[in-house]
Amino acid sequence: MKETSTRLVLHFPKETWDKPVIYKLVKDYDLIVNILRAEILPRMEGSAVIELRGDRKKLGDAIRFLRSLKIKVKPLELDIFREDEKCVHCGACIAPCPTNAFYLDKKTFRVEFDKDKCVGCGHCIPACPLRIIYSAEF
Ligand code: SF4
Ligand code: SF4
Repeated sequence: MKETSTRLVLHFPKETWDKPVIYKLVKDYDLIVNILRAEILPRMEGSAVIELRGDRKKLGDAIRFLRSLKIKVKPLELDIFREDEKCVHCGACIAPCPTNAFYLDKKTFRVEFDKDKCVGCGHCIPACPLRIIYSAEF
């Protein structure tokens, strides 16, 4: 057995909100699942950031299983930056961010970026109308 681990960003379609997905990863694929963040609400799209550890082949099979349920699976990898001085605080980057790394400061009404919360999913990059969010990889 070749053990490996990976961190993934998952986006769940509405239809999967009540499916025992994590249970299946543990029971059927023998993986250790560490949920780093999750936002799952009844009958809504959801997102989660998870760490999976286990046999390399089983991990691959588990990712195929997730995708068979139309769950979007992306590796956690991008190092995100924002050109703060150009930001117009429109808020378009807040909704796509699964971890609240982009958030509205209710005192100043400015959109702030908490890099420590960022998990590098990249969803904010196309959301910004000014294209001032980017990663070192692009
Ligand atoms: S990459 Fe963007 S959307 Fe993803 S967690 Fe970081 S700030 Fe949020
Ligand atoms: S979408 Fe771009 S301009 Fe708008 S608040 Fe976010 S970083 Fe600033």
